[in-house]
Amino acid sequence: MSVHYRSCNLCEASCGLEITVEANRVVGIRGDREDPMSQGYLCPKGVAWQDLHNDPDRLRHPVRRTAAGWERIGWDEAFDLVADRLLQTRARHGGDSIAFYLGNPITHGWGPIILIPMLLKALGTRQRYSAASVDQQPQHLLSYLLFGSPLLLPVPDVDRTDFLLVVGGNPLVSNGSIMTAPNIKRRLEGIRERGGRVVVVDPRRTETARSADAHHFIRPGTDVYFLAAMVQVIITEGLARPGRARDYVDGIAAIESMVAPFTPEAVSEATGMPADVIRQLARDLAGARRAAVYARLGVCQTVYGTSAYWLVHVLNILTGRLDEAGGWMLAEPAFDLPVIGAKTTDLIGYDRWRSRVRGIPEVAAEFPTVTLADEILTPGPGQVRAMVLVAGNPVLTVPDGRRIDAALADLDFLVSVDYYVNESNRHADVILPPTAALEREEFDVVFPAVSVRNHVRWGPRVVQPAPDTRSDAEILMALLSRIDAANMGPRRAKALDQARRRLLPRRLVDIALRIGPWGVRHRERLTLRKVQRFPHGLDLGPLQSVLPRRLMTSDKRIRLDHPVVTADWPRVVAGLEKATVDARSEQMLLIGRRHLRSNNSWMHNTERLTTGSNTYSLLMHPDDGASRGLADGDRAVISSRVGEIAADVRLTDDLMPGVVCLPHGWGHGTRDGVSWLHAASLDGASVNDITDDQRYDPVSGNAAVTALPVTVRAATG
Ligand code: SF4
Repeated sequence: MSVHYRSCNLCEASCGLEITVEANRVVGIRGDREDPMSQGYLCPKGVAWQDLHNDPDRLRHPVRRTAAGWERIGWDEAFDLVADRLLQTRARHGGDSIAFYLGNPITHGWGPIILIPMLLKALGTRQRYSAASVDQQPQHLLSYLLFGSPLLLPVPDVDRTDFLLVVGGNPLVSNGSIMTAPNIKRRLEGIRERGGRVVVVDPRRTETARSADAHHFIRPGTDVYFLAAMVQVIITEGLARPGRARDYVDGIAAIESMVAPFTPEAVSEATGMPADVIRQLARDLAGARRAAVYARLGVCQTVYGTSAYWLVHVLNILTGRLDEAGGWMLAEPAFDLPVIGAKTTDLIGYDRWRSRVRGIPEVAAEFPTVTLADEILTPGPGQVRAMVLVAGNPVLTVPDGRRIDAALADLDFLVSVDYYVNESNRHADVILPPTAALEREEFDVVFPAVSVRNHVRWGPRVVQPAPDTRSDAEILMALLSRIDAANMGPRRAKALDQARRRLLPRRLVDIALRIGPWGVRHRERLTLRKVQRFPHGLDLGPLQSVLPRRLMTSDKRIRLDHPVVTADWPRVVAGLEKATVDARSEQMLLIGRRHLRSNNSWMHNTERLTTGSNTYSLLMHPDDGASRGLADGDRAVISSRVGEIAADVRLTDDLMPGVVCLPHGWGHGTRDGVSWLHAASLDGASVNDITDDQRYDPVSGNAAVTALPVTVRAATG
């Protein structure tokens, strides 16, 4: 029996794990009490890691699709086959006929983050899509526009703030979300223990709202007007005090005229929020000693996602919270991905090229997933004919999943790097299953950049991988070396491959640590060896003021009235009247939800996570149920422009009248041919069978999956 320490890489909280291994098998997982970030905290998903490791439904060797079903093949045969088919597609249709779709788990490992940009470049394609454009692209776009890098993402300094306003987010369940803050419940309790307050604005009384000091309902999709009214109050009441930010922020004066139409009274009917509540919240935010506004999906997943999230920045800047302790701060990661990514990839930019069919701008070298099906199904030069899915399940993730499903079936070639045969890669020609995280060395290159405390950690291998298995990095490197060989000849490709294998990951991490801020600027002088001496992780202390030093804009200044935002502002202004009229209608609006024991679409095969309250159901206000003849437990049909699904109703006054709520990531049993048998046995439909790929924020391309207009009726038969 041996005990190992690693961080959990299922979500960005990155909690410390204490893992007991017996005979190369994980037999126990609990929270690592000595982890400086999580201090022993663990959510139920962390414990379920062992289920994933021991899951008999997991693929452990490459398979190829044949007329008789999946056939096991060797790794080299699989790599040759995949490389040949991708190269054939490129030769026939050009580089952009090959698309990549990257699922959320790729951000939790160094391999895909470093190697996928190389693979895209080697294949000569710009067709890159990911789950980011379903829920967070406005945040990346604004970080690029304001700070100069899509990865310079400020987080609320929750450990020191006195007032936290949460808009359209549920950190208690997501354990942060673009905010690495393990045991966020304890951290939020700390705010109250310091005499501070947590206030939540959300169409649902969420788990976070229930534990907050105050919760206010808001009509889905109208956050932009609520936030604009907050700014309007702060400016007109003379509460704006940007403080030190005045030295490096331009365009503050332009905000006043932009928000002038949005008085609390003007937005009250559209948002469903009383004007005096909005006014008081603005005063509370401005008056708190230390404060921050934090927003997530409810703000980003709307047709005004960019403008709404821009207002989050504006509020934090006007009230003097940017880069101040207890406010809206940037982490300084030891592996400085915002800087390294800028120098080594093409992710720094916006609207350098547009999607072929709908002409939507790229953001950080990605196209939005709302147009992925168009790109596959619409004939013409540049039509996508082959796809690489890495840890992704777009059929359950992307709006109008049925159309994506049909599009994937239409491809000439599909390869997937994944543990399971899921609802998307059931159409694959080849599936390449990687080893699980505990079977490989790991180093988190992404989430320290959004952490509420600076820290660094090396993750040693915990169990030996089974013979003849490959990690995700080994899979991607094998494909890359074959594409390189076609591009530059076998000798040069071999030399390049050997150099990569010498560099990755240890040498690269060591170099990055040495040249990073904690290797050069701070007295720690970090190296990989030093970091490895701290098996529980190395705490680098609370966030520090880093601006304007860390700005990556060309003039090291922030332009708050950025032309990309101001150009879209007339659409926001024009939309208020429609939002007000809509608020008077009987139209039901659908919002999403997440459960602490759910992880998007991919942890539903573990039994311990799919019991109790983690079930699929439609939440609905009792008044809305009564007007439709629906009682608790009745079956309802939910319809939108693109389709309909069914769900059992759960009546609750935790929901605003006129709003219904479904979880995402379900529906494994609605499509044939998947390998995760427990997941497929569960009740549930995919909410993305009714979300609409024509609803999106035209600035960032982010899907507008929240505030979806739906009708709800009792199911018959
Ligand atoms: S909150 Fe849960 S899933 Fe997220 S890192 Fe911690 S243990 Fe893992």
